[in-house]
Amino acid sequence: MWWTTVGHLRPALLASAENFTVMIKNNIRFPAFNYIRRNILPELKDTDLKGCIYNRYTNPYCPIFRLGDIVSEAKENFGDMAVECFLCVSFVDEDKLRVVKKSRKKTLQQTKPLSLHQRKNDLASMRTLISVMQCGPSRSLPVQNGQSSGLSRNTDTPLLEKPQTGNQAWCQCGCCPPAATLHEQLCCRLGKGRCITSSPILSTLILSRSVLETALFYVDPLAELHEGAQLRHGAYAQFIRWRFGDSTPRDAVPVIPSCCMGRIRAEYPRPDGKYSGLRLHQAMHSQAEFNAQ
Ligand SMILES: [Zn+2]
Ligand SMILES: [Zn+2]
Repeated sequence: MWWTTVGHLRPALLASAENFTVMIKNNIRFPAFNYIRRNILPELKDTDLKGCIYNRYTNPYCPIFRLGDIVSEAKENFGDMAVECFLCVSFVDEDKLRVVKKSRKKTLQQTKPLSLHQRKNDLASMRTLISVMQCGPSRSLPVQNGQSSGLSRNTDTPLLEKPQTGNQAWCQCGCCPPAATLHEQLCCRLGKGRCITSSPILSTLILSRSVLETALFYVDPLAELHEGAQLRHGAYAQFIRWRFGDSTPRDAVPVIPSCCMGRIRAEYPRPDGKYSGLRLHQAMHSQAEFNAQ
């Protein structure tokens, strides 16, 4: 019974939890015999339980288990379990979402999917968004750091195909800047063709300052908008809502393609130009949150 305890723990939690202990209290009732057995023996006193840790040989009646021991009893490696991480990928030329396991050898672009998931069309939130956009752009609040040079330019002019920003072997769209880690080496496309950032919807839906401000104030009506990072993070979140939405399978972290990350960062840059990239363990703690700086 107690194996399920481990199954429900998040990998990121496991990473630091090898020495954590759990106390298992369990009753098994046999109604036909009106008989109850507990896993904690009746003769065990509180003082016996204090500080004991289960060991098959030296302390077999102790109900307190070390998480690392539970995992090794199940013939699993704690370290492997702790770093197991699932990512969710959406290609513009494929109508399904992919779940892939993070690889230590291959780029995310090249990693084979474990499963494919139908994308749900979230038309309700689309309608809400359109109604917001029909009200026209809100008065932009001043942004001190990392501000964009102006939103109107982007909403007025559809984006054209961007010049090639690099020649990454894994990039199919020609717009992906270099990405430091394998799990960030992801293009918007599966096969060669036009980049998703060339679509006019990117500027209205993802990069529009008024849309991002509206989303921010929707969540926190009295939020103070004082740095570009808020808008950049808002744009990441907006992208994920748009391309993944509620279709993201549980425990898979959605990853934004490199070309789109580059586009968002160009619009709402960090003043020092240093981005920490996707922090998977933190991202796993809060599914919807994309923790790239
Ligand atoms: Zn690309
Ligand atoms: Zn692209």
